Amino acid sequence: MAIRNIRTMGDPILTKTCKPVKEMTPRLRELIDDMFDTMYEAEGVGLAAPQVGVLRRIVVIDTTGEDPLVMINPRIVETKGEQTGGEGCLSVPGKTATVTRPDYVKAEALDADMRPYEIEATELLARAICHELDHLEGKLYVEMAQPGSLMDTELYYEQEEEKEK
Ligand code: ZN
Repeated sequence: MAIRNIRTMGDPILTKTCKPVKEMTPRLRELIDDMFDTMYEAEGVGLAAPQVGVLRRIVVIDTTGEDPLVMINPRIVETKGEQTGGEGCLSVPGKTATVTRPDYVKAEALDADMRPYEIEATELLARAICHELDHLEGKLYVEMAQPGSLMDTELYYEQEEEKEK
């Protein structure tokens, strides 16, 4: 287990499309373990393989700190509704922007043993799944953020608080 270096915006690897995983290997298992370590260490809720420089369709997510989720070759099969809110990314450190996402997502993926499963998600988990799957297509959330909404995280939430007053 090890912490890997997180690639940041401007690194061309983050703009590339990732390749499907055909079989689980010791090397990929190690990658998945390292991705969890790296994500928890950076206090993120999700991480995609290209963010640590590997162009494979692998994502790890944990929105609660207690529900580690591995998604291999994931695919969104259904979406419903809409949520608009602040979103950040470990590859765009210290920044937050407003992004509209579906409020409900149904996805199919393989687990770390390459067994297929289906997951239904709402709210933050739905947002995280959409965000991480975008990484596999070489897309960053800043491309779909509300224009002008990208700013330092601290400032972003100060402004949100102001709006609520
Ligand atoms: Zn991200």
